[in-house]
Amino acid sequence: MLHVNKQAFIDYARQCGADLVGAVPAAQLAKSLPKGVNIPALGPNHRSLIVFGKRILKGVSWARHIVTKQIAGGHYLRILEKIAMKVAYRLEDQGYASLPIPSPALDFEQRTPTDLTPAGQGSLLLRYAAVEAGLGTWGLNMMVLTPQYGPRVYLCGVLTELALDAAPKLKEELCPGLEKCGRCAAICPEDAIPRRAAVGAKLADVRGLNCSACAHSSQPYGFQSFVEQLSYVLGTRDKEEIWKRLRTRQSSELWMEMTQMKEASITGCSDCLQVCPVGEDYARLAQSPHRKEELPAELARTYDGGYVEVAHVGPKVKRSALIPKKEKI
Ligand code: SF4
Ligand code: SF4
Repeated sequence: MLHVNKQAFIDYARQCGADLVGAVPAAQLAKSLPKGVNIPALGPNHRSLIVFGKRILKGVSWARHIVTKQIAGGHYLRILEKIAMKVAYRLEDQGYASLPIPSPALDFEQRTPTDLTPAGQGSLLLRYAAVEAGLGTWGLNMMVLTPQYGPRVYLCGVLTELALDAAPKLKEELCPGLEKCGRCAAICPEDAIPRRAAVGAKLADVRGLNCSACAHSSQPYGFQSFVEQLSYVLGTRDKEEIWKRLRTRQSSELWMEMTQMKEASITGCSDCLQVCPVGEDYARLAQSPHRKEELPAELARTYDGGYVEVAHVGPKVKRSALIPKKEKI
């Protein structure tokens, strides 16, 4: 096997545009995965999974226009795919068979599109790999929080024959949990993040996500929207009406997402990652006046019967449903 200088390889990934780089032995990762999650592309000679993170732009976080944020989300995923391809080729040039694992890649035999919730940060597999590689820890909303960027980072990976050790996992949880923070849960438009927990409960016992609920907002042009639009179009026997329903803005948007925006279809809502106070970048992000207006520093909480509940606030700017109840044709 050829010699690879690990630091030189990390430097190369950074030169290619990665903001965070980590690796985990495939065997270690496989042991850490929950039931039902595995490494589908894993071949017998794949020894490590390298994980890359790309931070989101502060200017995008400050934007109030939801569609702008969504489109930017697609751009991060495309950049990450290019980084993964470059690193995979570099590794193969040095003798190590390698396979890029794109962030939005789905194995429909085993997983569903909700695997990419919340906010399209990366598949559950990539998020587990990032935690095992010491890049971050789990947040209340099942995103990976990093010391540098909190959850404001998107993930991608490369499976490789090269044997790499993992950096030690982070010892302390970065997320203070629902009782001490809960900002992501308070703002979630779908109320998909736990807002109620036993007083003093451990983060590991509370964190979670209603993935299907999240997908309504985070995957506005995902599979569910596609099915809803098809059902709407075909929900009449009147041929004229079918044509009218087909030639609507909703069909046009779905077409554009599938043909042009692609990855952006799974990066819709990002409210929970925008308000998370974890990360060195947050102090600067919080300077934006509209960020303060969106979610007050102090959230309302009620204590009752040994439980604490964070009041739901919801986002100030909310996306309208893809298919209005009464469509104008
Ligand atoms: S805030 Fe948005 S991305 Fe986060 S969990 Fe809720 S719906 Fe999903
Ligand atoms: S917003 Fe607060 S509760 Fe939610 S993930 Fe971030 S630190 Fe944890």
